[in-house]
Amino acid sequence: MTRRLYYEDAYQCAFSARVTGVGADEHGTWLTLDQSVFYPTSGGQPHDTGTLAYDGGTARVTDVLVEDGDVRHYTEGNVPVGTVVHGTIDWPRRFDHMQQHLGEHLLAGAIARKVQGYTIGLHIGEADATIDVTLPGGAVSLDTDMWLEIEEDVNRTITADLPVKCWFPEKAELAHLPLRKDPTVTEHVRVVAAGDVEMVACGGTHPNTTGQVGMVKVLYTEAARGKMRVRFVCGMRALRAFQAAHTASQEAGRLLSAPLNDLPQAIASMKDKLSACQNDLTRLRRDTALTALLAQRDGIAVAPGYPRVLAHTVDNADMDMLSALAGELVTQPDVIALLAGNAGDHPVFVFARSAQLPQDMNALLKRVGVRGGGKPDFARGSVLSSGDIQRVLAEAKQAIKPTESEEIT
Ligand SMILES: [Zn+2]
Repeated sequence: MTRRLYYEDAYQCAFSARVTGVGADEHGTWLTLDQSVFYPTSGGQPHDTGTLAYDGGTARVTDVLVEDGDVRHYTEGNVPVGTVVHGTIDWPRRFDHMQQHLGEHLLAGAIARKVQGYTIGLHIGEADATIDVTLPGGAVSLDTDMWLEIEEDVNRTITADLPVKCWFPEKAELAHLPLRKDPTVTEHVRVVAAGDVEMVACGGTHPNTTGQVGMVKVLYTEAARGKMRVRFVCGMRALRAFQAAHTASQEAGRLLSAPLNDLPQAIASMKDKLSACQNDLTRLRRDTALTALLAQRDGIAVAPGYPRVLAHTVDNADMDMLSALAGELVTQPDVIALLAGNAGDHPVFVFARSAQLPQDMNALLKRVGVRGGGKPDFARGSVLSSGDIQRVLAEAKQAIKPTESEEIT
């Protein structure tokens, strides 16, 4: 069993110890010590990193896990059992984790008080942290006003700079403590209390006053398996998040020539204008294409009784535009329209014919290798490669073309 010095003092970042065991597993080579300040990954808090210096070298600790009560320090190189080491953890990394961890307790406590949310699953990541909250009635979100209220509550607790106490209570004492939720372990239950506003069982490391959390800011929430996943930042991470958001919004304001507070309105107005422009452009393209296609259609001369076959690629046309164009072209009684559009990643086709004609457009579409379907007088589909457009149109036209002698050229 490794003596966990971080339980006794979360601020101790250097120590001496003796190597009690060495080994290797799927994570790498490890060594255990008789005591350590290195925090092993657990309870959502990532492990510490740092160094172990000894007579003859220094080993970098890159991962820390707990196994059967022993803390395994993963290092490169071998340090023999019995060696005395002087360990040092990377303090900025640890303190950042302490800030996120206590910030999470304060946030979860406020969520419990304000909306009776039950929090599980802390995960402290590289840039932010998440918790999963079960809300009454299966809700998976809260409105903006409630989030502002919760954030204000949490940050008032931080500003009050309340003392934070961690201890292992006896069972009798534990039974009477007003914990926010039941402990997940039954033995060696450790309790962390922030003033009189928050108390919960936890084996992590925390600052010894709430003020050191600095700030807690919720970034956003999302639904996750019936729960509300809350993404948040504490301490310097909150400052960095604010800096990034402020820089981005200032740049957006400059681009839109709008003060920060007016940005949402400026963007909404720009979207409306853009949408109107897109509608105008679509209409214009369709009208231009239709004028050209009608002129082509009316210029085709074939023997009486044979259809006029119009095969054409319409630039920037999507399926909707092709369908509208084809519908116009086949209003005359002897027309077959074979249209291709190249607006998207995959070329699209519409094959249509006048109602009186016998040709089956659905069968024709399949015959020339277009994936799709429809009715005998109107079918549509797509192919994978834009290189197939000319082939499809040529084959389709060939399939319904009258013989040379019948076509008037
Ligand atoms: Zn904790």
